[in-house]
Amino acid sequence: PADQLEVDQSKKTLVILGTGWGSVSLLKNLDTENYNVIVISPRNYFLFTPLLPSCTTGTIEHRSIMEPIRNILRHKKRAVRFYEAEATKIDYEKKIIYAKDDSDVKGDTMETEVPFDMLVVGVGAENATFGIPGVREHACFLKEVGDAQKIRKQIMDCVETATFKDQSQDEIKRLLHMVVVGGGPTGVEFAGELQDFFQEDLLKWVPQIKDDFHVTLVEALPNVLPMFSKQLIDYTESSFKEEHIEIRTKTMVKNVTDKFIEAEISKPDGTKAIEKIPYGLLVWATGNALRPVVKDLMSQISAQKNARRGLEVNEYLVVNGTENIWAVGDCAVANYAPTAQVAAQEGAFLARLFNTMAKTDAIETEMRELSAKQSSAKAEERTAILNEITERQKQLRRVKQIGPFQYSHQGSLAYIGAEKAVADVSWFSGNIASGGTMTYLFWKSAYLSMCFSTRNRVLVAFDWLKAKFFGRDVSRE
Ligand code: FAD
Ligand code: NAD
Repeated sequence: PADQLEVDQSKKTLVILGTGWGSVSLLKNLDTENYNVIVISPRNYFLFTPLLPSCTTGTIEHRSIMEPIRNILRHKKRAVRFYEAEATKIDYEKKIIYAKDDSDVKGDTMETEVPFDMLVVGVGAENATFGIPGVREHACFLKEVGDAQKIRKQIMDCVETATFKDQSQDEIKRLLHMVVVGGGPTGVEFAGELQDFFQEDLLKWVPQIKDDFHVTLVEALPNVLPMFSKQLIDYTESSFKEEHIEIRTKTMVKNVTDKFIEAEISKPDGTKAIEKIPYGLLVWATGNALRPVVKDLMSQISAQKNARRGLEVNEYLVVNGTENIWAVGDCAVANYAPTAQVAAQEGAFLARLFNTMAKTDAIETEMRELSAKQSSAKAEERTAILNEITERQKQLRRVKQIGPFQYSHQGSLAYIGAEKAVADVSWFSGNIASGGTMTYLFWKSAYLSMCFSTRNRVLVAFDWLKAKFFGRDVSRE
């Protein structure tokens, strides 16, 4: 009901920034009866990022991995306000968020201020470019739905332009050279998906590109997938070789133009050389960088002055130097990798913490009331009141037993193309490393079960079936 959206002055206002892995996991588990909850995010949906690489080739349609935030919020006990806007500044002293509506439809009010008592920062990260010239202008990223759509369109654009009448052979080779920079899981998964698309569909629909379509993965370090075990790195590299995906390790991109990249290559004899690599599509997947709103918040808090990679938090995810700000996911530094797994566990932990804090507040208020009653009570009533106070004290001890955040690593999984995946999975106290087709089936079932909703699961399963039976759609939107 509309009146439930009104601010209840007796409750604290909890503002949550972002609708990604961290924030949504918090929202899912939070008892919203205890707070005035406000969510601010430029994205009115949750995105299941692990399957985003599959959207670049149309194996999965992007809407199948999106869940509207309104759908998540409407199931909450007490209504939650959602503002589709970007937090442009967090004023730590004044406890105010400055929010800007960036939508295409312009209203009279496009900027506002939202006060908070408690704040959770879950804004994720942006794409790292390390200031390399030309990246933002010419490369595609792979973080959001729009990025995947742009890549999908550009792949087909390259194919159609390469097959245009009288195109020179050099230009055909350039246009059909798909370069992926960054050999982390994002780059590897995308390269695998792209080669699948070529092998399974493009070759059938546009056979004349057979000898010229080529995927290259460029990585500055000596190997790809540094977070996986050595055995799986070797497996991935040999599997890419079989799939005809070229891996160029020890190759650091230094400059990007509209038609080629310039990379510094470290040769086996220790010397270095600069090479120009022409490309038609360039996908940039070199990891995370801080968002400006996070950088700005860090600059307001003296305890954050040595922080570099994000908001430093304590074991309860409280931003160091503050009392009422928490951070989750990729924008927080808690000594874990920036993954969905970590963000989701942090969000769930905060929900437990906030639910507990609210219960604690309620019990403490009751205890204060009982103590006041006790002092004015008759002698025969006092014992009963004292018993009640003792009972509340016991309750309080039980509730306050929440320990610090502890991450439980379930393992790492990545798709590497040609119906193969690699997995480093924790099993009891040990670790199992596996790669191949069985691991691919495990990858599929694991990600299907992890999808946000049954609706998402059904849509993803249908997309897989559709791609298998009818092929991927090669029309350029
Ligand atoms: P996000 O999920 O990125 O969410 C950030 C939210 O904040 C978004 O809703 C965004 O719109 C919002 N936001 C941004 N700026 C503002 C602002 N100024 N104000 C308010 N809101 C803002 N991890 C795994 O564990 N397994 C995987 O298989 C996996 N696959 C991945 C595949 C890809 C292609 C990518 C890009 C990442 C993958 N990851 C995976 C990593 C994982 O997606 C991230 O670690 C995770 O999304 C981090 O969660 P988060 O909540 O911190 O940020
Ligand atoms: P990443 O940070 O894991 O990898 C980026 C890679 O780019 C690094 O290996 C780095 O050496 C390389 N690089 C940086 N600058 C370069 C340059 N100029 N030239 C060439 N190479 C350069 O980034 P990611 O793959 O985007 O992943 C980001 C986070 O998301 C990670 O924590 C990752 O674990 C997580 N993620 C997980 C999965 C999965 O589990 N399947 C999938 C995607 C992302």
